Amino acid sequence: MSQRVPGFDTLAIHSGAQPDPATGARTTPIYQTTAYVFNDTDHAASLFGLQAFGNIYTRIMNPTQAVLEERLAALEGGTAALAVASGHAAQMIVFHTLMTAGDNFIAARRLYGGSINQFGHSFKNFGWEVRWADVDDPETIASQIDDRTKALFIESFANPAGFVTDIEAMAKIAHDAGIPLIVDNTMASPYLVRPFEHGADIVVHSLTKFLGGHGNSMGGVIVDGGTFDWSASDKYPMLSTPRDEYGGVVLHETFGNFSFAIACRVLGLRDLGPAIAPMNAFLILTGIETLALRMQRHCDNALAVAKHLKDHPKVEWVEYSGLEGHHNNALQKRYSPKGAGSVFTFGVKGGYEAGVKFVEGVEIISHLANIGDTRTLVIHPASTTHRQLTDEQREKAGAGNDVVRLSIGIEDVADIIADIDQALDKTA
Ligand SMILES: *Cc1c(COP(=O)(O)O)cnc(C)c1O
Repeated sequence: MSQRVPGFDTLAIHSGAQPDPATGARTTPIYQTTAYVFNDTDHAASLFGLQAFGNIYTRIMNPTQAVLEERLAALEGGTAALAVASGHAAQMIVFHTLMTAGDNFIAARRLYGGSINQFGHSFKNFGWEVRWADVDDPETIASQIDDRTKALFIESFANPAGFVTDIEAMAKIAHDAGIPLIVDNTMASPYLVRPFEHGADIVVHSLTKFLGGHGNSMGGVIVDGGTFDWSASDKYPMLSTPRDEYGGVVLHETFGNFSFAIACRVLGLRDLGPAIAPMNAFLILTGIETLALRMQRHCDNALAVAKHLKDHPKVEWVEYSGLEGHHNNALQKRYSPKGAGSVFTFGVKGGYEAGVKFVEGVEIISHLANIGDTRTLVIHPASTTHRQLTDEQREKAGAGNDVVRLSIGIEDVADIIADIDQALDKTA
């Protein structure tokens, strides 16, 4: 075997996968089974006791899912990964592993609307308190941290305007406080940003978006960076204290730099249950094979559209960090030199009403609540994804009443621009 380290595009196609040992099938089979036959009772006992790795039951692991996990760990540069049913399931399992009732965590205020709801409402019912932070003003964050703060959570590119977060500054704040930095890397994908290289400890994704890439399957992933010392304090008992149900195993001691991924699987996924369907794991794996090609085209198309909108007489403003002179352009160049992603916002002249007319006037572009599809997508966050929030929360999340969000697809860019122009004509 040669010693070459494969490049990103090669890993996106090959990592984790081999021809199927049973049949020679070259693409990864969909292992559509719920359970797996044991060799004998000793084998079964060692699997249940975490003394051996192997398949038991598809709620906990599945061979199609395992290929997806190995591939995502390779693309992010982590030690191990756990794939689950959705991005929100990934977030739930991460916090379940870190928190007990009465604990708190810090989260950037500028987040996907669904995460704002999940953290602010459902997590509250578990006794987990979210403290919203202003990532543009890092000095204020440290003062929000106390003895029961268990993590700092940010998005690499923040939904909906795609602002780039200063990951290294956030990692420093987290590490000074002895807590891990969790980065939601959904909007950038590892093709553009690799948070572990900037100090992140845990990366999560909604695989539903750019990684799957075709708008056809839900999925989520947790990637373990392998960097955090879970035993340095008594803050993380799931990792640092003996587990009765596994014969007294201490997960961090036994599994070292991939113990977080193990804890998420053998405690979080086992008990909370949001397993990914093998079919979805297969579709997302297929999507990942073209991630590099798609992401670059997404970025190139988005930049062309943003430039066009910036000069458009019916457009009030454009927020795209890839534009020269944008207040976020320096961070974008530092963290994501290949491009600024495909999701950004603009304001149509005429405010709320004009925004509604625009999203109702598009033809090729689809008006729906998703991002990261091959197709160009549009939404008016104030009336949809960010509807449950107060006006103030919307403003702070970059989703004010006049905002239109685009997720630029990989169609011919001239067709995307023509569709936008005809829809803008209808706003007057
Ligand atoms: C969509 C999304 C999520 C949630 O993922 P689901 O797969 O829809 O559960 C989380 N974070 C970001 C940035 C997202 O875009």
